[in-house]
Amino acid sequence: MQTSDLVNQLAPSATIAAAAKAKELRDSGVNVLEFTLGEPDFTTPAHICDAAKAAMDAGHTHYTPAVGIPALKKAIRDAFERDYGVSYKPSEVTISNGAKHALHNVLAVCCNPGDEVIIPTPYWVSYRALVELVGAIPVLVETTEESGFCMTAEQFRGAITDKTKMLMLNSPSNPTGSVYPVEALEALARVAVETGVTVLSDEIYSKLIYEGHTFRTFASFGDDVKAHTIIVSGVSKAYAMTGWRIGWTLAPENISKAIDKLQSQQTSNPCSISQYAAVEALNGPQECLSEMMVAFQARRNYVVERMRAMPGLTFVDPGGAFYVFFNVSSHFGRELPGGMTVDNSSDFCTALLADAHVALVTGDAFGAPGYVRLSFATNMETITAGLDALEKFLS
Ligand code: PMP
Ligand code: GLU
Repeated sequence: MQTSDLVNQLAPSATIAAAAKAKELRDSGVNVLEFTLGEPDFTTPAHICDAAKAAMDAGHTHYTPAVGIPALKKAIRDAFERDYGVSYKPSEVTISNGAKHALHNVLAVCCNPGDEVIIPTPYWVSYRALVELVGAIPVLVETTEESGFCMTAEQFRGAITDKTKMLMLNSPSNPTGSVYPVEALEALARVAVETGVTVLSDEIYSKLIYEGHTFRTFASFGDDVKAHTIIVSGVSKAYAMTGWRIGWTLAPENISKAIDKLQSQQTSNPCSISQYAAVEALNGPQECLSEMMVAFQARRNYVVERMRAMPGLTFVDPGGAFYVFFNVSSHFGRELPGGMTVDNSSDFCTALLADAHVALVTGDAFGAPGYVRLSFATNMETITAGLDALEKFLS
């Protein structure tokens, strides 16, 4: 039997594919220096794991309501109000199997085939694929290093047509690490309200902010803006809980109800045990966040300093998340000792992996040819060795 047209046109996740390729090489005995996946290397804090064990012992091993237990909805609402001063009703919160699933749900309940979704480039790999998966049309708006990879209100306005449903925004950004300044966000918010376009604000990296930068939730610019905002977030990145698969959506009630209906047919509910662990993540001691941030800040500073000194690379210093997205196009056309010529970012990544055993992800996957993404969510030893190898490769 043939597979469907829908899945045939879908590209596999390039981040996951790059990680799998690196693992394959490692399994064959090569010491690969891995910078592909955006996944914290820390193990989930012990008190969160203990809460999961306690949940199992207490028999919380059954189906839960389709979009999550009341205790987790409350913890999410409380944390949002505590951190950002914005309140949501329980009926506006839905919990899903990770933020990626939450994004898919939002697109599935909001978009009809042919609707347009504006996506600033560079974008996170899955945005374009998820939009296409629901039959909607991605409208790509290019942002550049010069503008700090931030889309302006004029660009947003200029991309809106009578088919536009939504803007997908991600600050701090994967892959660029850029954090929108408050005024820039507010200007986008005003366009959203004026034009009636909803903003899907992916705030999964909101807790990963470096010195000199500030995070502001898109829902915080007034009730009119909040009515045009859908927030997606989760515990994966901040609490080092990627494997637990808990993400959520804060959205107007009609959207949340639609997600509830969809999820009730689709997955029943997110893992019961993970939900109890996420309650502890949000309600329990928060020192783990600052401890991990100290490590991320040190890694970020080291990576930026080292890479600034390497010839021909340009990038915006990451203000959040754990990625450096750098332009390598000044090295295109160079020939490697083995005879291979590096003509694009994919060649660059292939050659770097083969030659220096350093695994990165090509910028093509993020809608930004000429660029390459390095995730520094790994230990200092790997980072040091990887940057040594990158420097040697470039020279
Ligand atoms: N949004 C962005 C921007 C991401 O980088 C990720 C990372 N996987 C996700 C969403 C999905 O997160 P989760 O692992 O919770 O599905
Ligand atoms: N978001 C992470 C990344 O960009 C994890 C991989 C994925 O979900 O695609 O590397």
